[in-house]
Amino acid sequence: MPVLTAVQGDITRQDVDAVVNAANRAMRGGGGVDGAIHRAGGPAVLEDCRARFPHGLATGDAGWTTAGDLPARWVIHVVGPDRRAGETDRSLLVSCYTRALAVADELGARSVAFPLVSAGVYGWPKDDAIDAAVTTLRSTPTSVREARIVAFDRATYDLVRAALG
Ligand code: ADP
Repeated sequence: MPVLTAVQGDITRQDVDAVVNAANRAMRGGGGVDGAIHRAGGPAVLEDCRARFPHGLATGDAGWTTAGDLPARWVIHVVGPDRRAGETDRSLLVSCYTRALAVADELGARSVAFPLVSAGVYGWPKDDAIDAAVTTLRSTPTSVREARIVAFDRATYDLVRAALG
């Protein structure tokens, strides 16, 4: 089981083996974390998305690309459930974390930074998004040693810290 840590900051600045992207099914970029990763990673990330995922990814699934210019070596893209579009099945959110860890294991990544998947534009309630992240990352067998939850703002960081106990 990985050690869980929390930091407040920008996921694109994390010095880890892999960063997780809160992508969408098309995998051609977007807003929030997705936009930040593509801006900071540069065009190599999008090129690799097109080459490796010509049909995108299903909700709840994960896949990796190069991280381009990011400090990380890989981006692990996950597609969280979009509550605004009626995707309310929590197991899809849990699956983002278990699948991301499985992909990290395939890659041999030992440190992985996670955003709070679906907690932004996709409208998942923040408390439950944090609970899904913490509970799943804590209980999933993996060779990843550090799972770092990156909170963008102070209020969210405080909630993550409280959930970590
Ligand atoms: P989704 O579409 O899955 O909801 P978002 O990217 O809109 O994903 O938001 C997910 C979470 O990531 C939100 O809590 C948002 O505040 C946060 N976030 C946005 N940009 C960044 C960033 N650069 N680094 C870390 N977290 C971010």
